[in-house]
Amino acid sequence: MAGDIAWKGISMARIAIGGFHHETNCFVPGVTDYAYFAQHRDRPPLCRDEEIFEWMPGANFALSRFLELMADKHELVPTVWTSGGAGAIVSRDAFERITGELVGTLSRKMPVDAVYLDLHGACVSEDFEDGESELLRRVRASVGPDIPIVVSHDYHANVTPETAQLCDALYGYLTYPHIDRPGTGERAAKGMEIILQRGLPTGKAFRKLPFLIPLTYQCTMVEPSKSIVDASVAGVGGEVVSLAYLAGFPPSDQYWCGPTVVCHAYTQEAADQAADALEQKIKALEPDFAVPELDPDAAVRQAMQIAATASKPVVIADTQDNPGAGGTCDTTGMLAALVRNDAQGAVLGIMRDAEAAKAAHAAGEGAEITIALGGKGGIPSDAPYEARFEVVKLGDGRFTCTGPNLGGRRMDLGPMALLRIGGVSVVTASSRAQASDQEMFRHLGVEPAEQKILVLKSTVHFRAHFQPIAETVLVALAPGGHISDPRQYPYRKLRPGVRLTPLGPAWNPSAAKP
Ligand SMILES: [Zn+2]
Repeated sequence: MAGDIAWKGISMARIAIGGFHHETNCFVPGVTDYAYFAQHRDRPPLCRDEEIFEWMPGANFALSRFLELMADKHELVPTVWTSGGAGAIVSRDAFERITGELVGTLSRKMPVDAVYLDLHGACVSEDFEDGESELLRRVRASVGPDIPIVVSHDYHANVTPETAQLCDALYGYLTYPHIDRPGTGERAAKGMEIILQRGLPTGKAFRKLPFLIPLTYQCTMVEPSKSIVDASVAGVGGEVVSLAYLAGFPPSDQYWCGPTVVCHAYTQEAADQAADALEQKIKALEPDFAVPELDPDAAVRQAMQIAATASKPVVIADTQDNPGAGGTCDTTGMLAALVRNDAQGAVLGIMRDAEAAKAAHAAGEGAEITIALGGKGGIPSDAPYEARFEVVKLGDGRFTCTGPNLGGRRMDLGPMALLRIGGVSVVTASSRAQASDQEMFRHLGVEPAEQKILVLKSTVHFRAHFQPIAETVLVALAPGGHISDPRQYPYRKLRPGVRLTPLGPAWNPSAAKP
């Protein structure tokens, strides 16, 4: 029985720490392989053992803050931490190597008094529809039923009943844009302290909402999401150790895709009451989720009209090519619309094209190059943009972010180049990165606030650093790997009857393609 076990009330605990992030978009081609996890890109490379203490502090992850708070009080036992960002389904090889090494390291370093795992919550691998619960099942099998497992999740987690059951407290980000990753690690640390003193919470409640929420509608800077996360915070305390609202990630084709409420408490009654209250609140707000979306030409023309008299840039979100939702970060629909409409003072970023960046570096600043830019990710209705570009500025892709979303994080995006055609400039990089920090532009001499139009390959994260300098924000729908409207996804595994958007049509499995 949990109340009798040896660790209860201990002040100095051996706490195993690790992490495995992937936000899987099942509808983009290819797989996310081990090499991708291992590489330093817009996030640290896979780190093991003591490397975790080198990379995590100050890196703006939940584990970063957990480490800072707990290192002096407890003995932290590092295993493996890695983040593959968002992208195609995780390969069998990558999933087995990463979970195998994490669980193997944990076994080697046993015994431990507790486990903290910094996870995403929307990982789909070639073998496992819910990567997190499979990882948790192996960790639980390794440590046994009496050792507390505390988990943090991204706001976009698609949580399953197994995950809620396998852990003892679960903390989700409260913000989208995600500016509280460290804050989430802090709440996880506090929850861990409570459990170490008080014992395992025995009440566990799981509620799945009956509709999916497109990412564009999930921003917590506006209603109704703001009120929902506020209510989740207000529900914690007393018998309730954690009460999480996870908004879900629609591009993961899995049975339990969609928004979730999870509660862990010291009585089943308290867990059920808190989960029910939050679930009812979200259901009542279903009609309030909505954001207008424009076609590329309409968005550019509207932006040009506003920019003619505005003192601040008009921002257009190229939401469907958001690499943070698995987009290829190289589609050209918005670039074509900017050039076609002769936009002036416009900058688009980030365009991932390593070949173009290499050609620009070979030619040098001031040269002109004829290239087929972007459009190489295999996205339907998208193609490379063939034209002559001026090479305005070159960079090595190494800089440190300063905004609220990624501040402090060291970037290595490979060779970068600012390419210009007419009044349109393109921030080109060698690897994918969501345009959510102004330093990505400043690295190539572009001061974002001084532009007329900024086109950002991002859905919501850009708002943290760019909305304060924007005259207004428009959302455009150019072809991309992150389809904004879940009604367009060829789902196969979703649970029957779930509404594909708030107040939208219910999914019918007989309509699924074989
Ligand atoms: Zn997220």
